[in-house]
Amino acid sequence: MNFYVMTLFPEMIEQGMHTSITGRAMEKGLLSLKTINIRDYSVTGNGRIDDYPYGGGAGMVMQAEPIYRAYEDLLRQTRAQDKIRLVYLTPQGRVFHQAMAQELAQEENLAFLCGHYEGVDERVLEAIVTDYVSIGDYVLTGGELPAMVMMDAISRMVPGVLSNSDSGVSESFSDGLLEYPQYSRPEIWRGCPVPPVLLSGHHGNVDRWRHEQSLLRTFRNRPDLLKKENLNKEDLKYLRKLLESETDNGLSAEEISVLKNLLGISLKFSD
Ligand code: SAM
Repeated sequence: MNFYVMTLFPEMIEQGMHTSITGRAMEKGLLSLKTINIRDYSVTGNGRIDDYPYGGGAGMVMQAEPIYRAYEDLLRQTRAQDKIRLVYLTPQGRVFHQAMAQELAQEENLAFLCGHYEGVDERVLEAIVTDYVSIGDYVLTGGELPAMVMMDAISRMVPGVLSNSDSGVSESFSDGLLEYPQYSRPEIWRGCPVPPVLLSGHHGNVDRWRHEQSLLRTFRNRPDLLKKENLNKEDLKYLRKLLESETDNGLSAEEISVLKNLLGISLKFSD
C-alpha cells in the first residue's frame, strides 16, 4: 500500500512512520510513504503558503493554489489519471473508526492533506478531497498527527504488516467488543496473581473467560458499542448474571440502567 502525505512538516511524518512496525513494513516493501512539502509549491516563491481570511477573523488560511499544485504533482507521481482517494484531516469530518481503517486499507494508493493554521481555502478542498475525516472531537494544531494515527491503524490491516496475523483479528473493535485484559510473566507480580483460568491449559475455559471479560469491559467502558444484534444467548446470560449480582459487582445506578435497557431490548428480540 502506498501512502502520500501533503504537509508543511514532512520530517514529522517521515520520522513517525519510519519507526517500529510501520518502519519495518516499509523496509519489507509492504508499505511505502511519500511526503510532499506544500511549501515547495508556494506561488510567491518565498515559501509562503498562507494568507488572511476574506471577511476577517483570527488566524491565517492555507491558500488553494500551492495545495492544488502539490496535488497535481502527486497525481503525476502515482500515475493516477485524474483523481486519487484523498483524505483531508479535519475536526469537521466523519470520526475515524476501525471499520473505516479496514475499508481504506483496500486502496492501493491513499493520500492525505494535512491542514494548519485556521484551515484550508474551501475551494481547493471541493476540487480534490474525497473524504473528510476527524480523529476526535477536539482541535489540534495540524493534520500531521491525525494522518499518522490513520496510517498506523490502516497499516495494521495490510497483510504481512503484523507478524502474527491473528493479532489484528482479535483486537478491540474487530468484533464490536473491546479486547479482554492481557497478562504476562511473572505469574505473581507484587502480590497480584494472574487469573487462574489462564494457567489452566483448558482452551475452552480460557476462550469463554476472555469473551466474558470483553463483554464486561465493553459494558463498563463503552456501553454504546454493545448492540443487541451482536449478542448471543450466552452473552445475554452472562449480562443477566451480572445484573443479578449487582451488589458484588459494584454496579453504578447508570450501569444498572444501561444493562436493564440492553437486556430488555435484547429479550424482546430473542424471545
Ligand atoms: N479552524 C478549524 C476548525 O475550527 O474546524 C480548525 C483548524 S485546526 C487549528 C488546523 C488543522 O489541524 C486542520 O486544518 C486539520 O487539518 C487539523 N486538525 C485539527 N484537529 C483535528 C482533528 N480532530 N481531526 C483531524 N484533523 C484535525
